[in-house]
Order: sequence, then C-alpha cells, then structure tokens
Amino acid sequence: MKQTPAVNTLRPSACPGLLRIVQALDGGICRIKLAGGSITAAQAHAVADAAQAYAGGVIEATNRANLQIRGIGNEEGALIALLLAADLGPSNAAGDDVRNLMLSPSAGIDPQMLFDTRPLAEQILTTLQGHPRFHELSAKFAVQLDGGEDLAMLEHHHDLWLSAFVRNGQTLLAFGLAGCPGLDAPVAAVPLEQGHALVVAVLEAFLDLATPEQTRMRHLAVDKLLSRLSVPVLTADGFKRPASGALLHLGSYPQVQKNQFYVAALAPLGRLDATMLKGAAQLASDYGDGTLRFTPWQGVLLPYVEKPHAVTERLMQLGFLCSIDQPLARMTACTGSSGCGKALADTKADAVQLAALQVAHDVHLSGCPRSCAAAHTAPVTLLAVSPGHYDLYFRDAAQPGFGRLHAHALSIEATGALLRARPRSNTDD
Ligand code: SF4
Repeated sequence: MKQTPAVNTLRPSACPGLLRIVQALDGGICRIKLAGGSITAAQAHAVADAAQAYAGGVIEATNRANLQIRGIGNEEGALIALLLAADLGPSNAAGDDVRNLMLSPSAGIDPQMLFDTRPLAEQILTTLQGHPRFHELSAKFAVQLDGGEDLAMLEHHHDLWLSAFVRNGQTLLAFGLAGCPGLDAPVAAVPLEQGHALVVAVLEAFLDLATPEQTRMRHLAVDKLLSRLSVPVLTADGFKRPASGALLHLGSYPQVQKNQFYVAALAPLGRLDATMLKGAAQLASDYGDGTLRFTPWQGVLLPYVEKPHAVTERLMQLGFLCSIDQPLARMTACTGSSGCGKALADTKADAVQLAALQVAHDVHLSGCPRSCAAAHTAPVTLLAVSPGHYDLYFRDAAQPGFGRLHAHALSIEATGALLRARPRSNTDD
C-alpha cells in the first residue's frame, strides 16, 4: 500500500484534493484524481461507500475525468482513510494536486489511436508526483496527452497539450501551450520517445520563468519558454488533429481489440449517487474487464464489453443517460445555489426543468460569470441573473467569453420557447 500522507504537509489552496477537503454550502468536497480517468470496480465501490458513510451520498463526475464526493460532514479523516486504503491516493502527499494529466477515455482501445498513451502517461504521472519541484505547480495546472484517438476531448484548455501525428512514417508528438489540440496550433513537436523528456523540460522552464503570481501557462510568453527548453524540438509541420468522432462519448462502439466494445454513458448533469456508481462497477465486473473510465463529458465508459446492449440497458435503468435524444444529455450546469454561495440560481434544477421542455440544444447553465464548471464555451450559455432567470448567450467565435448576448433575464419557460423555435444548426457554430 502507498505511504499514508500527512495531511498537514499540504499547501493551502482553494481547490479540493483527496487530502484537502474544501468547504462548500452543502458540506465538504473531496476530489479524487484518477489516472487517465480509470478506476477499478473495487475502488469505485470504495468511493460509493465513502460517499454513503461520511457524506450526503452525492458523487460528481468532473469535466477533467475525476470524481468528487460532496456534502462531507465531520468525519473527514475516516473518509480520507477509506479512500487511501482503496489505493486512490497520491504516491506522496505533496503530489496529490499535480496529478492533472488527461488522456482520451479510449486510450489503448480506440481503433484510430496512433499509440497507446498509457505507459507514457504513467511515466509522466510518476514524475509529477515524485519530483518535489513540480509540487510548486498550481493545483489547476494541467497536461493533456492525446494519442490520436477518435474519442477525444479536444476543446478543453490545458497548460501543456501533446497530440500524436505521423510525419514521413514517424510518430511525433506535437505540443502546444495554454490551449488545446482541437482549436490551437502547436508550437513545435518532438519524437514520441522524447515525450516524457519534453514534459519535464516544459515544466522546469515554466517554473524557472514564472513569478509567484504567474501560476498558469497563459501568463507566460511562449517564445521565452521555448528558448529555455532543455530538449531539442522539431517543427510541427503537417500536424492537423482530425476532429473527434461526434457523440462517441455516448453509446457503444467497437474497440481495436476484436469482438470487444466500449459502452459510454453520461451522469445526468455530472452527478451520480452511490447506487449508480456501485451499479456501474458491478457491470464492469460482470460484463467488462473490471475497470471503469470516467470521461471529460462527465460520464463513464466501460471497456472490454462483449454484450454492449445488455450493459447499455442496465446503465439506463441505473439512471445514466445513454442517448443524445435525451435532452439532459446535452446539458451541463455548475453546482448552483444548492452548493455554491456565489450562485444566483439553482442551475441544476433549472437544467432539469429546461430539459423537460424538450430543448435539443447544447446548453450550459452557469450560476455566476466564473463559469467554473465549463471547460469550453457551449453553443448556448445561460448565465444566472436571479433565481430562475438567465441571460442567454450564443457562442460566437468573434466574441470572447460566452459569446453574443441574445436575451436578458429570461425565465426557463421563455428560454425553452426561444430555443425550441430556433434550429440547432444556428447555435452549433
Ligand atoms: S460558476 Fe459560479 S455559481 Fe457556479 S459553481 Fe462556479 S462559482 Fe459557483
């Protein structure tokens, strides 16, 4: 078992971690960072047990493919001990915050992948946790490693992203800073074998250059950082990340392994309870390889399934969303006033109400302008102005933030009527 970290060695931060329970309106929050989003069925049972025994039972699937438990009461120590006993902790206490490496949920199983990212990811995660200097990084500092999978989140900004491509028969890793492979141009590339060395070099150069106030890559000049790199880099000529397959995060799809499928579903508005999590874990044991992967769409993926229909049916019975025809599958919402003191509206309840009005648009409901639960701009954003009322924005590439303000202080009913009257193609720019 891993060493038991001493909680008092943690640095102060407003971000929850496994060892740092942060208080919200509805109790404490514990964030469990999963390597590549992956968790075993036994670990998932432990998370569900912890949520039931020491919290209100609400578990969240985050948009960085992690899990968090909400509503934790006084027994923080017992909850943390249970999670550590399930081997969900960092290899040392100071390394908890820096376990921020996002992979494609279909790493190692995707028919389109150019390589299996998981061994390199493990190497990077070991270095992040084991190299004391990297513990100086912000708890939000995040890296993405993309192996060219068809199922990939390509729009979430990361401080450093790496994305595989092939040039003249050689697999290279293009990389970019403060952006994402789906929308931004890379700054350079390295041979695949240099991937680990590159991550180390970029992080060291960042820490060399950044002042204490400069906590994220976007705060630094790219040229300055590149000139400090201790590894040689190549041009990224020829890199173009193909778009991710539409809707592959929902439904069942063949893996590269013969006769094997993955089944993907969403947790409604990113939330599940202990029964759902245990049910999904049981399905992974009964029908899959005994593992689950959480996805950046706030959902779950069960790999190595031979009978996908049976699994999909059971996931639906458990309360997961398995079809894009379910309006709630198109909606995301921040915590809202039931758990966040900054929220001006109960975004989750309002999203359920909006979905019931058969709105078929991709909508994000935000309780305040921080929009902390949206990793990228949604085609439609509803920004709360008072309980049950929202400003409505349409995404517009020419405008920063949420996009173009279309209407002010709409009720949910009025929002539903407006969106139903508007074809989705007008908002999915
Ligand atoms: S977006 Fe605002 S209201 Fe919503 S959870 Fe974040 S801080 Fe709270």
